[in-house]
This record gives sequence, structure tokens and C-alpha cells, in this order.
Amino acid sequence: MQKQQKIYLDYAATTPVSREVLSEMLPYFSEKFGNAMSIHSFGQEALQAIDDARNKVAGFFGAAQSEIIFTSGATESNNLAVKGVLKSYLNSRHARKPHIITSAFEHHCVLDSCRAVEKEGLAEVTYVRPGKDGLIKVSDVMREIKPNTILISIMYVNNEIGTVQSIEKIGKIVKKINAQKNSTDFKIIFHTDATQAINYFDCNVDKLGVDLLSMSAHKIYGPKGCGILYIRKGTAIRKIQDGGDQEYKMRAGTHNIPNIVGLGKAIELVQKNKKNDSKKIQALRDYLIEKVLREIPNAILNGSKIKRSPNNVNFTFKDVEGEGLLLSLDMEGIACSTGSACSSGALSPSHVLLSIGLKPEQAHGSLRMTLGKYTTKKEVDIAVKKLKAVVERLRKISGSVLKEYYSKK
Ligand code: PMP
Repeated sequence: MQKQQKIYLDYAATTPVSREVLSEMLPYFSEKFGNAMSIHSFGQEALQAIDDARNKVAGFFGAAQSEIIFTSGATESNNLAVKGVLKSYLNSRHARKPHIITSAFEHHCVLDSCRAVEKEGLAEVTYVRPGKDGLIKVSDVMREIKPNTILISIMYVNNEIGTVQSIEKIGKIVKKINAQKNSTDFKIIFHTDATQAINYFDCNVDKLGVDLLSMSAHKIYGPKGCGILYIRKGTAIRKIQDGGDQEYKMRAGTHNIPNIVGLGKAIELVQKNKKNDSKKIQALRDYLIEKVLREIPNAILNGSKIKRSPNNVNFTFKDVEGEGLLLSLDMEGIACSTGSACSSGALSPSHVLLSIGLKPEQAHGSLRMTLGKYTTKKEVDIAVKKLKAVVERLRKISGSVLKEYYSKK
């Protein structure tokens, strides 16, 4: 029997480590295994590798090397951003309870960090809702600013619907507000989770006007378990993990050298290929969107079509249950993801899709397909053909189930 060709359309979940990245990483597992904190030559070799990677990362963001903190990934970076800023504020002499602004459709690591500090009574949090188009209105964020606002955290690109937020505009306004504050006031710190933006968008931190920025290596063809938090010089933030003096005393723990080397190489490749890859992937995305809308009735694209990541497609198919769709497609060799998350054994609809006004049943019937640099037109053609057949089959089943249900009533 011929082996089924598998098609991966879940690049927003993770990406494969590219060959070039892997070959740079390999020596650091065995031959060059030193601990970067050791004084001897093995340690110095490791330290040099970290410095080289930090240099590449800093160059990508237009930052100083000392502003790049290596972490275990975006989850840790986002926790450090929210909790580290709050800790700094609470350790200062400011008497008022602090206020944080974020959006209702952030990744869970930002949302849950905010909810955790809110629950502990350490801060009040405002969750700004995006519009139906999946875009956060800058004016909605600004309206929520209060004298005790210490942090604004708004993601650059949403991981489920791919919508792109106006980070630069928010950055400019925050800067203006801070300039009017007294020297003793706590300035508003602006953070963005740029995890899904690195491959496609300008991430120069001065252009964006951000003080903090998070990213993760495994979304850019680098290894899992590695990321960074960019911290603008002078930002009021404290470490949240105690231990060694690594990472300018901001993040304790022995460095994961192979991963850091991998992140450095991955970001170097993004910088080199960004323009061409974006163009190619966006053309495939538009082809996919048009083909689905033309060939599959009652399909709705979730999120703005214009302010959208070049690799993201998110559809709701009327009268189709997303889990069934996902599993059927998986059996056909197509890997994508759905708008439901399995939490404690139950399927809960995606908080992102609910936040843009979808009903729970619409959120359950959604499908995210995310493309990457290895996606081909042939793969898109096969995927749409199989998707069409699966949607038709599932609709027939759900139609007859509903008919039977109503005939018994
Ligand atoms: N933020 C966003 C927007 C993400 O897409 C992800 C990964 N799904 C994360 C944070 C978490 O990143 P990591 O897997 O590196 O912890």
C-alpha cells in the first residue's frame, strides 16, 4: 500500500527546526558542552556562543545586546514581563494598587498571568475586547489608561486568527503620556507578545515603541524551549526566578546553549529570507482563502483579511463540528488546528473566537490552517480537496442527526 503523504498546516503551533539551524546546534550538545558561567576554556567557548547569538538577536530587534534576555520560551518571557513589572512596582514606594491593561484575546500565558495577579489582589486588570474583525482599537486601549496604569500588554499578531495589532500607534501614545508624567511617577511600560510576528513583520523595538517584547524560537524554525524577553534599558522590572547571576541577573538558571545557538541562527535566517518568504506564503494564503470560499459553501473567514498575518487562515464552517473536522482531516493526513481547546476533559470554545463575537457553536466549528516556508501550492490544492469532501460528509451526518432529533420532538 502506498504511504499517505502528510501535509502540515499548523505552523503557528510550531515549526520544524531547519537544517541550517540544527547543524549549528549539534556541536553544542557534545563537543562544546561547557557551562557559560565556568571560567575555564570550555566555559568561555560556551559564553562566546551565547554572545554571538545575542548579537544576532539584538541586531534583528535593533536593540543593545544587554537588552536581550534568553528564556525558556514565550510563556516564560510573558510571565516575566507581567509579573516582573508588577514586582518592581510593588517593591517601590508607590501606594496605589496598580492597574494593567491587556486584551481579551491574548495567549493564555499573558491572560493567566494577569488573572493570577488579579486573583491575589495585587493588581486590577482591564481586558480590552477586540472588534469583530479581530482588531484592537487603539482608542479603546487609551480610554482605559488611569493614573495607576503600570503596564499595557497587547500582542502583535494573534495566534489563532492572525490579526495584526497597531503596536506602533499604541507605542507612540504611551510615549507621549509618559513624557507628561512627573519624574517620581511610575511610567507606563508597554509590552508586546511578538511570538507570531517575527517571521513576517518589522520588529524593530524603537519603531514599535515597546519597552518589552517576547518571542519564541520554535515558531521561527528554531528549537522548542527557548525564547527571549527584550527589556529596554531602564525599564522598571524585577526578576521572578531566584538562583544564579545569568542573563544580567534577570533570569537565573544554566544556559541552554544549543537552543540559544539555534535561536541565533534561526533569527539570522528570518532576517535574510523574510521578504521573499512572506511574499510567497501570502500568495499561497490568498489562494487558499479564495479556493475555500469559492468551493465550500457557508464558510466564513474569521478576522480581518487585510490586517492579517501572511500565513494565517481561520474559517468557520456552518453546521460542522471542529473536532470532527480536525480528526477527519488528520485521518486524511492533513494537520491543522481547531477553535476548541481540551481543558479538563471538556471541549471549551476558543476564547479568541468568542472575544470577536462568535457564538460557542460557531467557535466549535472553526478551523485554523497556518502555512509556512515549506508549504507548496500542491499541498494547498490537496488540502482544500480533502477539506471540501470532509465538510460535505460531516454536514450530511449533522443534517440527518438534526432531522432525526426534530422528528422525535
Ligand atoms: N504567545 C503566543 C502568541 C504564542 O503563539 C505562543 C505559542 N503558541 C506562546 C506565546 C507561548 O510560546 P512558548 O511555546 O514558547 O511557550
